[in-house]
Amino acid sequence: MVASDQVSLCSFCLKAHTDVGTLVAGPGVYICDECISLSSQLIASKPKANTPKPIQRIAPWDAETGLDSVIASLPRVSQAGKQAEYILNQYVRKARELGGTWASIGEALGMTRQSAWERFSGEE
Ligand SMILES: [Zn+2]
Repeated sequence: MVASDQVSLCSFCLKAHTDVGTLVAGPGVYICDECISLSSQLIASKPKANTPKPIQRIAPWDAETGLDSVIASLPRVSQAGKQAEYILNQYVRKARELGGTWASIGEALGMTRQSAWERFSGEE
């Protein structure tokens, strides 16, 4: 759960925690019981032979065919982005609590110490 008043979304299907049975948290992501079940089925149905096949990746937005559906997805996708940003902020806060420097946080995120401080410190 992100916060008691905040809706958490499955990072895969973007369903809200209130619309699924269980939402499992990972580092910066969530996955719902339905996506876990679907993933398990896909893995179980994977051919056992060692015949390499090209990896098929269809992004959710590329699978969409209707404008109304794409437009309807925008609020949830935006919320998922805010959720990821919130989680990143919590990890940075925890790193600071554990003695992490702005330099080490910046390096981990591919930015300067100053950029990390400006983005996450909450100070001006
Ligand atoms: Zn899901």
